[in-house]
Amino acid sequence: MSVDTVSLTGWGRTAPTTAVRFRPRTYEEAAAVVRGRGPRGVIARGLGRSPGDAAQNAGGSVLDLTGLARIGGVDPAAGVVRCDAGVSLERLLRVLLPQGWLPPVVPATGRLTVGGAIASDLPGLDHRRSGSFARQVSALELLTADGEVRTVLPGTALFDATAGGLGLTGVILGATLRLRRVTTGLMSVSTERAGDLDEVLARFTAGGDGLPYASAWIDLMARGRATGRGILTRGEHAPPHVRPAHAGRTRRFPRSGTPWGRPSSPGLLSGLLSGLPPLPDGLLGPGPAALYNEVRYRGAPRARAGELRPVTAFLHTADAFPEANPLYGRGGTVRYRFTVGDGQEETLHRAVRRIAARRSPAVRAVLERFGAADPGLLSFAAPGWSLALDLPAALPGLARFLDGVDEEVAAAGGRVCLAKDSRMRPETAAAMYPRLAEFRELRARLDPTGAFRSDLSRRLGL
Ligand SMILES: Cc1cc2nc3c(=O)[nH]c(=O)nc-3n(C[C@H](O)[C@H](O)[C@H](O)COP(=O)(O)OP(=O)(O)OC[C@H]3O[C@@H](n4cnc5c(N)ncnc54)[C@H](O)[C@@H]3O)c2cc1C
Repeated sequence: MSVDTVSLTGWGRTAPTTAVRFRPRTYEEAAAVVRGRGPRGVIARGLGRSPGDAAQNAGGSVLDLTGLARIGGVDPAAGVVRCDAGVSLERLLRVLLPQGWLPPVVPATGRLTVGGAIASDLPGLDHRRSGSFARQVSALELLTADGEVRTVLPGTALFDATAGGLGLTGVILGATLRLRRVTTGLMSVSTERAGDLDEVLARFTAGGDGLPYASAWIDLMARGRATGRGILTRGEHAPPHVRPAHAGRTRRFPRSGTPWGRPSSPGLLSGLLSGLPPLPDGLLGPGPAALYNEVRYRGAPRARAGELRPVTAFLHTADAFPEANPLYGRGGTVRYRFTVGDGQEETLHRAVRRIAARRSPAVRAVLERFGAADPGLLSFAAPGWSLALDLPAALPGLARFLDGVDEEVAAAGGRVCLAKDSRMRPETAAAMYPRLAEFRELRARLDPTGAFRSDLSRRLGL
């Protein structure tokens, strides 16, 4: 097992803190770290893709699970696969898709681990059909504060606290995931351009439930009558008889272990920016950002249906985008994601208007629609609308501005995503997550000495 002392941040690269990082190769090594933890405790970490401070532990231990990455064989009768928690979704899909299987919940990036996906109970583009990630877990192995490994099953209190529990109930070592059978590695995709936020919402509800996967890019820099304009993209798995024009050369599934469906590029700017080092003040001022958004909006078809795209190009849209730092500068990036319920569209409108009025350089903003709430005590998704956006952390007055949006979201019964957070106030988090008391109670019983701690848990009093 390798051990080093490192400065860690989340993907947003804000608020670095130093911890001793352990990289276990076996379950026994992981258990030894938990048993031998110091007074500042320990937290699990996957690929560090959560944008905030959830996988950091200042002055304590961080258990990097990426060395535990075995994938078992698919059980075709049960439609499940068993894998270690440190396996990345990207690799899992590369192994599963050529066999005609896919995890039902796939986020916008493949560069995160199964453990991280369960611990943040992340929703995918088909939340209305599949729920969040942990809903597709049929069992998991959890290393708890006493150093023991327990098999935890859905429907139990420990499972519900671990799904979305941000590593605070223990270390997920492995999981059994339910899979979906797919007959091709292609998606049939429809795209529509909508002139303002009302039109985006109307198009979502008019046709969104017909096709299982749906999201919209929102132009958060457009103002006036165009405020909240966007591009709605929906998709479904293409059946075997639907073939692209170049069908003769297109495989129904990618070969195992080969590049298989490069993510589609959202535009010229992203191509130019990928690989650039961070710029001192960030590249994107309001002018270039507005131009980028204009080009992206105008470049989208008004309406197009039946376009065939590789599954990963369609689902892992974020992987086509450059890393945030070249765009947003050395100060790092704040990802803000909130949800408000059906009937609370006015809150969504107000938030979009407020962001647009600020003329912040927002180029990444994604609107999704969630279905039934998930059972996890701290799971984020709840029926209604979710908006996720990235902003440069160095924007003057950003924290106060987002505190104000938090208040509106909380007043409307909505919530901000904890797995992405790096700045929320503890009282706001408590107001947004009514089952937090239950979560704290379970943790106090399971882990009375507070073995599992993170910068996030200390900041928000989880
Ligand atoms: C470009 C991009 C796109 C994204 N798209 C989406 C999206 O579409 N939907 C969405 O919901 N989120 C999305 N995210 C957020 C992010 O992917 C998740 O928050 C995810 O948790 C990150 O996984 P990770 O393996 O990197 O975990 P980390 O960031 O390392 O850790 C995240 C949390 O999980 C805990 N954790 C990690 N591994 C374990 C384990 N084995 N046992 C117990 N706890 C563990 C950590 O303690 C921490 O609390 C995106 C992030 C980026 C950067």
